[in-house]
Amino acid sequence: MQIGAHVSISGSVANAVNNAIERKCNAFQIFTRSPRSWHAKELEQGEVNEFKDRLSSSDIDRHATTAHMPYLPNLSSPDKEGYDKSIKAMVKEVQRCNVLGIPFLVTHLGSHRGTGEEKGIERLVDALNKVAETKADVTILLENTAGQKNSVGSEFKQWAEIFSKCKQKNRFGVCFDTCHAFAAGYDLRKKQDVQKTLKEFDELIGFENLKILHLNDSKGMLNENRDRHEHIGLGQIGEEGMSEIISIMNKKKIPMILETPIDDKRDDFGNIEKVKSLA
Ligand code: ZN
Ligand code: MN
Ligand code: MN
Repeated sequence: MQIGAHVSISGSVANAVNNAIERKCNAFQIFTRSPRSWHAKELEQGEVNEFKDRLSSSDIDRHATTAHMPYLPNLSSPDKEGYDKSIKAMVKEVQRCNVLGIPFLVTHLGSHRGTGEEKGIERLVDALNKVAETKADVTILLENTAGQKNSVGSEFKQWAEIFSKCKQKNRFGVCFDTCHAFAAGYDLRKKQDVQKTLKEFDELIGFENLKILHLNDSKGMLNENRDRHEHIGLGQIGEEGMSEIISIMNKKKIPMILETPIDDKRDDFGNIEKVKSLA
C-alpha cells in the first residue's frame, strides 16, 4: 500500500520528507510554497539538495510524491490579467517540481465565473496545453471537482472531455478526489457503489491515467456539491466505501494521499492508522 498525507514544508521544503516519515507515510503531497499567495519565494539550492537527499535515503518512492497547485491561480478565468498570471504561476510550479524531482503536479480546473462551461473549458484547455510546453519531467494531474457554482469537471464525462483535449498525452494524468466525486453525486458508500463509480471512471478516463488518489471522506451529503473533507470512515462515505476504495487502489498500485482535517477528533497519524486498519 502506498499511503500518505499532505504534509507541511514549514521551515524548509526538505522538512516535508521528515514530516512524511514521522507520520509513517510512504507517499506524500506538498505545496512547494505558500498556497495563499501569488508570490513564490525562490527555492534555495541547499534545501533542494537536502530534500532530494532525504527522499532518496528514505523508503518513499519519488513516484509516490506530488505537489499541489496553490489556491489563487484560476485556469478558467475570464479576466485576461488573472488568466495570464495563472498560467505563469503554473509554469513556475511545474519548474519547481522539476527541480525537486517531484513527478506530479495536481491542479484544480478553475472557475468560469458565470461565463459558461463551454468558454471556461476552452480557456482551461488552452492554459493547460500552454503550461505543458514547459520542458520538465512533470505530469500535470487534473483533479475532479465537487461541483461548486461555476466550476467545471465534476461530472466524469466533462472531466474526460477536458482530459481528452489535453494534447501532449505523456504530460497529463488525473487525480481522483473521493470527497469531490461523492459531493458531485457519485456514490461511494457501499462496496457495489464504489465498484460502479470506479467502473464509470475507468470507462470514461481509464485507470491507466490515474496517478494519485486523494482519499478523503465527506462532511457533505451525496450530490450536495460541498467540498468539505472528513476523517476516514467518519463522514458520509463511511468505512465500507473507504475500505473498498483502499482495496482497489492497492490492487492497482495507486498512491493514496489524505487531505483530511486535523482537529480534536483525529490528526494525520490517526487517519493513516485508520486507513491501514481498513486495508
Ligand atoms: Zn485539490
Ligand atoms: Mn483533493
Ligand atoms: Mn477539496
